Amino acid sequence: MSDITLGIIGGGQLGSMLAIAAKKLNVKTVIFSDDADAPAQNFCNQFISGNYDDKQKVADFVNQVDFVTYEFENIPFETLNEINKLKPVLPKPSVNRLIQHRLAEKDFINKLNIRTTRYVSIEKKSDIDALEDFLPGILKTTTLGYDGKGQHPINSTEELNSINIDFSSGYMLEKLVKLKKEISIIITRFSNNKYEIYEPIENTHEDQILKYSKIPAKINKKIFNQSKDWAMLIAEELKYVGTLCVEFFIDRNDNLYVNEVAPRVHNSGHLTINSYNVSQFENHVRAVCGLEQIPLKKISNARMINLLGDQISPYRNSPNLKENEFFFDYLKKEIKEKRKMGHITILI
Ligand code: ADP
Ligand code: MG
Repeated sequence: MSDITLGIIGGGQLGSMLAIAAKKLNVKTVIFSDDADAPAQNFCNQFISGNYDDKQKVADFVNQVDFVTYEFENIPFETLNEINKLKPVLPKPSVNRLIQHRLAEKDFINKLNIRTTRYVSIEKKSDIDALEDFLPGILKTTTLGYDGKGQHPINSTEELNSINIDFSSGYMLEKLVKLKKEISIIITRFSNNKYEIYEPIENTHEDQILKYSKIPAKINKKIFNQSKDWAMLIAEELKYVGTLCVEFFIDRNDNLYVNEVAPRVHNSGHLTINSYNVSQFENHVRAVCGLEQIPLKKISNARMINLLGDQISPYRNSPNLKENEFFFDYLKKEIKEKRKMGHITILI
């Protein structure tokens, strides 16, 4: 029995799966969430609910843990920074601050000579003039977006002008890439500068929400290597510790672009639970808690299907699974349209 306790901020499905992985490694978990109904309370050793700026609750949490990590990027920098003075927060708070802002994130990636989509900051309505170059495009909030939230497809300057948006909260306009395919790379960097990297995962989105992931991705050798190299470069440059995901676009001319970086475990990596000897979650816990690094081995090819909204119901009622199928129910209290409720992984 290890006597390590890991604190996890955020109590959704990623927090749950981190807690499950930690348990396997005999690492205790304390989850801190601002949602009293957070599903991860079903999987951790201890659950604390409170606002992220509640100093007393944060202190309670910090006192009980050895290391702190987080399952989503929209945690106030001040909170992570304060905690980091008392217990190591990994990945470090400055990484989170950089990546939670889409403009800072894309500037950072471009400085590494890595291709991203073309983008421009929009701070006020008049910035919209002369933006034809970026159309058709997608208008995105610079902070707090996920699963396509805060995004508006825009085809013409007229559309852009007539849209009713308060630009004071920060937006950017991104040129639409004519997509052939989307892939992601999941990489875990350990504090001794070593890596474990999973093979590229091919992803299909519906309404800007991830619906299917699979390995192997059908891509050429150049993209296979370039995506891995870019993910390593990003992790290295951030001096990252833990699991990180890089999302990529591939256009119709086989150009590779980085779409965004998630400083955390990622939905497209759920299939690693069943298809690799060590999952993205276990690797994250290993890296953050300074545990042993184990070389990755693929067990099987796999497909993952997200269950959104009431797509979960038939599986809850009678899962009827085959031997190569694995069903995960995130145990969210309320079924909401397009909400990620669970997933199925099929080994193929
Ligand atoms: P989120 O933070 O919501 O994941 P993303 O920027 O990754 O936001 O966008 C979600 C999805 O929307 C992408 O995976 C892709 O399918 C589509 N998308 C976003 N931006 C673009 C773009 N510039 N060109 C083409 N498709 C895009
Ligand atoms: Mg995304």
